[in-house]
Amino acid sequence: MRISYQSTRGGEQGVTASQAILKGLACDGGLFMPTELPKLDLTMKELAGKTYQETAYEVMKLFLTDFTEEELKYCIEKAYDSKFDTETIAPLVKADGAYYLELFHGSTIAFKDMALSILPYFMTTAAKKNHADKEIVILTATSGDTGKAAMAGFADVPGTRIIVFYPKDGVSRVQELQMVTQKGDNTSVVAIHGNFDDAQTGVKRIFADKEFGAELADHGFQFSSANSINIGRLVPQVVYYVYAYASLLANEEIKDGEEINVTVPTGNFGNILAAYFAKQLGVPIKKLICASNDNKVLYDFFQTGTYDRQRDFILTTSPSMDILISSNLERLLYLSTGCDAEQTAKLMNQLGTEGHYTVTPEMKAKMADFCGGFATEAEDAAAIRELYDETGYVIDTHTGVASAVYQQYKKNTGDETKTVIASTASPYKFSRSVMEAISDEKLPEDEFAVIDELCRVSGVEIPKAVEEIRNAQIRHKLECDVQDMKKTVAKILGI
Ligand SMILES: *Cc1c(COP(=O)(O)O)cnc(C)c1O
Repeated sequence: MRISYQSTRGGEQGVTASQAILKGLACDGGLFMPTELPKLDLTMKELAGKTYQETAYEVMKLFLTDFTEEELKYCIEKAYDSKFDTETIAPLVKADGAYYLELFHGSTIAFKDMALSILPYFMTTAAKKNHADKEIVILTATSGDTGKAAMAGFADVPGTRIIVFYPKDGVSRVQELQMVTQKGDNTSVVAIHGNFDDAQTGVKRIFADKEFGAELADHGFQFSSANSINIGRLVPQVVYYVYAYASLLANEEIKDGEEINVTVPTGNFGNILAAYFAKQLGVPIKKLICASNDNKVLYDFFQTGTYDRQRDFILTTSPSMDILISSNLERLLYLSTGCDAEQTAKLMNQLGTEGHYTVTPEMKAKMADFCGGFATEAEDAAAIRELYDETGYVIDTHTGVASAVYQQYKKNTGDETKTVIASTASPYKFSRSVMEAISDEKLPEDEFAVIDELCRVSGVEIPKAVEEIRNAQIRHKLECDVQDMKKTVAKILGI
């Protein structure tokens, strides 16, 4: 079965998977969606016992139908190798009754590595297939983790350049150091004077600028995106939900066919949407619990059916979730309209012009698999502390939000279904906030002294990604105002 892709806003149809990956965003500003959501060829029982790489192939071949078996397997082998510090790639850790799916064992210690270690291979393969002769320029807005993971993936990949925009005061110290010390002649990092939404909107605007696109083409460049708006990000994220269920089955933690719940700390809605896709593929998932921090726009949306971004943007200790415009929600909207691109476009336009929209009761009913929750800063810290006190297991601030929301959900609903919690970053990435949660003592000023302290209390070895930045040279110092992002891109590319 061949699947093609179409824009959620109707402006593009019949696009192959490889073209959709190359383009990133559809030309009408919409997101690419497959014409149908496929089903797994194998049963969960057959998948239990398969390696991560084998599972990846079973999932990816369903979505990326214009890639050959050889091409897909090549991409998978290259991506999920010794860059990961564990052979299982995505281990499950049982703690306090829940299953933490550790998605941070890749080279930049956040879950973004799960997709961004394969995206460069998808992209270079797609470029070859489509005889694209232009240099691909990856433009990326980051709330802290995507930027580093994308640069790690694309650094020195021939035929590509990557430019990352991050909010100057909106990322953790480790996140910032990881980015500004990035090596590779084709990488550029720019701190913007604004928040993540400003960065993401700015990037989308550059994508939509047809004149600039033409100018770029004249100079031999073509834009693409490494954000989760790219279908090439979403598909690899489906894999670990299939793998997690199969692992639970293989370890006899669940019975065949038993439903599980999934809790995901959410920002741009990419990770949890991947879990929803996994459910459509046939993984027995009951509820998708969407966990937000104080920027609880999604919680309000699932409560009321109204999405309203007109509110203050709050900086929290889970910065990768500090987002008020969750791009991938557009894909769920589209599905809930019964794939009505016109209606989707109308809602998205309204969001752009008025800052809010409300879905119909029918649409809301179609999203009943989702359930929203949120955790305040204090609740996040308390969840990290409690888990540590009870089990010695240390989680990061984003996973802490999910853990807190899961506990609330259980209490409010009495639903005791076994639950997988997506653990999206290593606690080392947010050492200071994590240590503040679990220790009563005053912390040292120096970030690396805090990191050493975290190592002492957690007993978890300091990851290579953190050791690397201890003494690394700062290579990127560019800054710009939000309205100058396009100018900055032009300058970097020399046009
Ligand atoms: C990106 C990120 C998230 C949010 O994921 P989305 O797919 O944007 O919803 C959560 N936690 C961490 C650590 C992240 O890096």
